[in-house]
Amino acid sequence: MSDFTIAVVDDDAAIRRLVRLFLKRAGYESFECTTGEEAREALWQQPWDLAILDRRLPDLDGVVLAHQVRSHPDFRTRYIIMLTGEDDQKDKVEALDLGADDYITKPFQYPELLARIRAGKRIVDLQKELLDTNKRLELLSITDGLTKLHNHRHFQDELARTFDEAQRYQRPLSLAMIDLDFFKKINDTHGHAVGDDVLKRAAAMFRGSVRSTDLVARYGGEEFAVMMPETPLADGIAFAEKIRKLVESGPIDTQVGPVPVTVSIGIASVPHTRIHTAKELIVSADKALYRAKKNGRNQVQAEKRRDGLARSTEGAAPRTTTTAAR
Ligand code: GH3
Ligand code: MG
Ligand code: MG
Repeated sequence: MSDFTIAVVDDDAAIRRLVRLFLKRAGYESFECTTGEEAREALWQQPWDLAILDRRLPDLDGVVLAHQVRSHPDFRTRYIIMLTGEDDQKDKVEALDLGADDYITKPFQYPELLARIRAGKRIVDLQKELLDTNKRLELLSITDGLTKLHNHRHFQDELARTFDEAQRYQRPLSLAMIDLDFFKKINDTHGHAVGDDVLKRAAAMFRGSVRSTDLVARYGGEEFAVMMPETPLADGIAFAEKIRKLVESGPIDTQVGPVPVTVSIGIASVPHTRIHTAKELIVSADKALYRAKKNGRNQVQAEKRRDGLARSTEGAAPRTTTTAAR
């Protein structure tokens, strides 16, 4: 059966019956409406691709309905063939100007109606394809090809937006930067393909560990970023520690067998007296990551804080800055 559905809107029962019979023979799905009101409900509620719309409905001018459909953003790919009663040029011009894509004059021959439907279907199919392509391109443009995580650019955009929101509503927000330890050595020892495997597996681990409201991205080569809205520093640290342990606990399966991997994580959060922009939050998490590397890797480090807030948070999670000894 065709995946192309046609709405037949006409108050004349004989026309509805005949049109639907021909549509069925031509392999189209169809449904019918007898009034403008009924059509307004059906067209807004069920899927359709093309409408054959009588201009003269008992309760409504078909042109008004065509115009309403045309003005709706969700109906951009829909096609409307107006049935006009008489061969009146003014009527046709008005119908086309207000939203119909084509018209046919009653009484009409079925081969002509079917030919006009085929022409409409070509356009609808093309528009659907275009929308699908756009959607795919949009997704591609925000996705990292190797890990299928969000990419750097999308992460920056989302972080900027979420940061502003968090500041405006004074909500907590944490950012973790995760970097694989001695990753170059994995590439050097096993080759680039195995390195890629490790990146993919690690990405899957991170994706599987976050909340649905968090955003994980591949920030750079072997560096990942996790944005955690509604998450104060102590909870962000707990999450980072969970990730660190998870990676440490299982060697990653690759094409050459299990490869042990560890990660270093830097974490920063707002509210914070010295962080006022998304960029400052990133710099802060980066500095913490740098400290985690310098202190021996395979550990979580949080931003250094000198304000009162910091002391209480760090007090709540004393292990954070002492994880070097492992
Ligand atoms: P550190 O513990 O200090 O982070 O050491 P490291 O070796 O992990 O860091 P370094 O920055 O020296 O090396 C990162 C390596 O990651 C170098 C680069 O070739 C590799 N890399 C970056 N992107 C990819 C990728 O897409 N695939 C593979 N296989 N390797 C990559
Ligand atoms: Mg690294
Ligand atoms: Mg790195």
